[in-house]
Amino acid sequence: MRNVLNADCRFWISALVAEHQGYSIGALPPMLISLRIRNEVSDLAKPRVAFFSFSCCEGCQLMVLNLEEDLLALAEHVDIVSFREAMTEHPPQADDYDIVFIEGSITTPSDLKQVKGLRERAKVVVALGACATMGGVNMMKNLIGVDKAKEIVYGDKAHYFESIPTMPIDQAVKVDYYIHGCPIDPDEFLEVTKSILIGRRPRIPNYPVCVECQMKENVCVFDVGKVCLGPITRAGCKAICPTYGHGCEGCRGLVDDPNASSHKNLLTEHGLTVEEAVERYKMFGSGWKFVI
Ligand code: SF4
Ligand code: SF4
Ligand code: SF4
Repeated sequence: MRNVLNADCRFWISALVAEHQGYSIGALPPMLISLRIRNEVSDLAKPRVAFFSFSCCEGCQLMVLNLEEDLLALAEHVDIVSFREAMTEHPPQADDYDIVFIEGSITTPSDLKQVKGLRERAKVVVALGACATMGGVNMMKNLIGVDKAKEIVYGDKAHYFESIPTMPIDQAVKVDYYIHGCPIDPDEFLEVTKSILIGRRPRIPNYPVCVECQMKENVCVFDVGKVCLGPITRAGCKAICPTYGHGCEGCRGLVDDPNASSHKNLLTEHGLTVEEAVERYKMFGSGWKFVI
């Protein structure tokens, strides 16, 4: 079993020792202080963690489940109070949570109301996966318009269903942390969760997929006539698509400062159009922010 918590537990213990040795409590990370205070109040007070989903395929929750033994190790440190995909019983929603992972995008008025309610009851909100962070594949509804999409999906029953333009979670409520990808990378889920628990900033790559791709010594798919969004897409997936000969489709969204002009040059060099790349970038939602 991979030991997911030991290194960070050492950090946590060091921080508490530092506090004991006279460092200002204000210098310690807020969540760490929160956990410390809670544990002084009650030995049973593990952080209360919940998973909720809106419009999506729930594949990102499945990736969390796929952590198997690592998830069991994590469960020793937190109290998972709601996780529909993993639990046979579905407890009523609680009055408060420490960490809420939200998967899926907002696509109905009811989603909007529910996500605002969750935000009010959660200390920390984490957007889980491309649907939650960027709108994901559900954003394609916005390309054709809500009414047309309803008509295609529901036919003459369309008037029974309420629908609004798809939005990522942070268009509805404040989001504290983002876990990218369609689906997410399980290691990144652990990295973000551990970081929240110990109060440090998660180490999320802010460099392009090309970096990971070149470290794996892959043949660049541009060289075999395919289009790849790797030069402007946030790494962290271990360049899995180019590793298997496919161009990156941008499911992890843009790096913070994409070098769009260099990407444009690359496309031109290979006789490809910018329009084609932009169209591809719309698949997961970040194409809406993307201007070359
Ligand atoms: S991001 Fe992808 S895998 Fe995750 S819930 Fe959305 S569609 Fe499914
Ligand atoms: S295949 Fe894509 S990710 Fe890999 S080096 Fe080429 S452009 Fe970059
Ligand atoms: S290579 Fe691109 S499309 Fe594939 S998983 Fe990584 S970010 Fe997503």
